[in-house]
Amino acid sequence: MKETIGWIGVGSMGHRMSRHLVAAGYPVVVADAVSTARAPEGATVAKSNAEVAGRADIVILSLPDGAASVAVAREIAAASPRRVKTVIDTSTIGIKAAEEVASVLAAADIAFIDAPVSGGTAGADKASLAIMLACAPDAFERFKPLVSLMGKPFYVGPRPGQGQAVKLLNNFLSATALAATSEAIAFGTGQGIDMKTILDIVNASSGRNSATDDKFPRRIMHGRFDAGFTAKLQLKDISLYLENAKAAGIADEIANVVVDVWRRMEAAIPGADITQMYPYTQTGRPRSARS
Ligand code: NAD
Repeated sequence: MKETIGWIGVGSMGHRMSRHLVAAGYPVVVADAVSTARAPEGATVAKSNAEVAGRADIVILSLPDGAASVAVAREIAAASPRRVKTVIDTSTIGIKAAEEVASVLAAADIAFIDAPVSGGTAGADKASLAIMLACAPDAFERFKPLVSLMGKPFYVGPRPGQGQAVKLLNNFLSATALAATSEAIAFGTGQGIDMKTILDIVNASSGRNSATDDKFPRRIMHGRFDAGFTAKLQLKDISLYLENAKAAGIADEIANVVVDVWRRMEAAIPGADITQMYPYTQTGRPRSARS
């Protein structure tokens, strides 16, 4: 008999990821504070997060931010009756929140696995997410088969928040690449060079990155602007990166600039997809003073 999985938060990522567990034959119980309309077919819908904690052995979270994860961890810890023994948080919440979630759950004798993901909604659909697990090594071995149903698990380290650290530094790199590539492509096309020509050359050269080999050719060049990841969420991730980098006392000069650029882009185009950084760069982004 397979263990029962609880799933809290069936938004853009959660409904896609939880579907794979139902398909693999796990009994899945879901809850969402706003709507369970996107709960996967075959899952049971619970009325509250506490009910999920009372019915499931393992609870997986896919929530918007640290405040939500901490609030839900408190509800799980206080649930009565309570069956859950392990909580796996796939949300991006930053190091401090992950530590707080771990300590709230530890006080109720519930194990915590910090497990942020990368790969977007397309990766969630295809079960090809990178899943960054920070937990005890034996917990990694135990939950690897379950997590593998949604993507590729990587062991990061034993401390809650270490998964967050890798997720945040990855998103900082990806956000920097997209902002910098938007400037570079605007420069190149301004010199009368075709965008495809620039991308073909850069992708065979040393400037190649996740914007030149994925976002530009697949989503920007043909005007689709549909990475499925909002600038608002991106800004949350890189702001958390900056906050954590400052707290760690490491160099943050580039992170400051990148966060500022994304903040201005998001304010100029509320609700924008991240790929709209390119049209923003072409039109709305301030240029340095020219001599
Ligand atoms: P989302 O806003 O679409 O989904 C979050 C869900 O959580 C919503 O349905 C919301 O109603 C629910 N929720 C909020 N508070 C709750 C509570 N207290 N109790 C129960 N349910 C609650 O967000 P998403 O895009 O699915 O992202 C989820 C997490 O995954 C975020 O932390 C995000 O940063 C991360 N992430 C997202 C992407 C992406 O491409 N969207 C990629 C990688 C990681």
